[in-house]
Amino acid sequence: MTTATESSEIKNIITRALEQNPENREIIKAFAPIIMKQRQLAESSFPEKLDCSLIDKEKLKAGVPVIRQIELFLPEDSLKEIALSMADAVKEGMPQLTENINKISNLIQEGKINPFNYFQTSKNNGNKVSDSYCETQISKTKCIEICKSNNPAISGGYNTPPFGAELGSSPDSNRNCPGVHTRDSKDLKVSPSNATFLMSLVNRVALEKRAREITAAVGSFDWEKGYCPICGEFPSIALIEEEGGKRFLHCSSCGQDWRFTRISCPYCEKETPKDMEYFYIENKTQEAAFVCDKCKKYLVTLYRAGKVFARDMDVSAISLIHMDMIMQDKGYKPMTICPWNILT
Ligand SMILES: [Zn+2]
Ligand SMILES: [Zn+2]
Repeated sequence: MTTATESSEIKNIITRALEQNPENREIIKAFAPIIMKQRQLAESSFPEKLDCSLIDKEKLKAGVPVIRQIELFLPEDSLKEIALSMADAVKEGMPQLTENINKISNLIQEGKINPFNYFQTSKNNGNKVSDSYCETQISKTKCIEICKSNNPAISGGYNTPPFGAELGSSPDSNRNCPGVHTRDSKDLKVSPSNATFLMSLVNRVALEKRAREITAAVGSFDWEKGYCPICGEFPSIALIEEEGGKRFLHCSSCGQDWRFTRISCPYCEKETPKDMEYFYIENKTQEAAFVCDKCKKYLVTLYRAGKVFARDMDVSAISLIHMDMIMQDKGYKPMTICPWNILT
């Protein structure tokens, strides 16, 4: 049920995405080294296995995701190594962040930032890593800049991530970095938004490893919810198959895909008349956004012929960033926060 893009294929997928979406070239290029590194790192499993016998299929059927049933992170997991690898990929795609990312890498090397503790703190605070982005007031101009400007990744036009705001001025800025918290983010002089960004990328790699392990161990199971059966996050993008018209939702937090009814909103479960509430761009019939007027959320949706697993759904989501801009302009919010879709 996972998309599990082979890392050998991902380069071709990104090349095709660049050709097909020239208007979003800069953001695709900025994320390309990150996505390639994530897929490569996620291919191998953690040496220490989870006890998947504790996962109850009846609970899954009732809508309790795996993350609410067992611990997905173990202290033995090589999160530090993943974080340092991802830091290199961020610097490659977004060289303007090099100085900040180097500081964070040093703190990770020295053990002053521990990714495992970071995820535990996030969880105990009731915050998923991506939730912390919600607290961030993002400058829309910045995101539009990265989509449209002359390669800000090379020109180094800003010191903050394209999706991150100037957090230092906010009295609540430390909330954006629950794991490194006040002491680290102030005394250790790192950008909370950059640390949060890096940790969200580490989170994806670790969760994707676990999602693969869990789906292999548990086998098929019933799941009828609009949020992810593994990590509980809402989908970042949907895909509707040409044949049969099935809708698959994709989780960018862990890479999982699952089938979901086309007649309900994945977020609030309001039933919607089939295909009545979709927004399309003229001449682009394969790209749409599902919109829900009850919860005011949208979900970028692709209509595709052929196999559902023949693409990388995160690359597709990044390639459709223009749809995020349009829908957020119209006042709708994404169902989940991804590193690339925070525009307002
Ligand atoms: Zn997930
Ligand atoms: Zn809704």
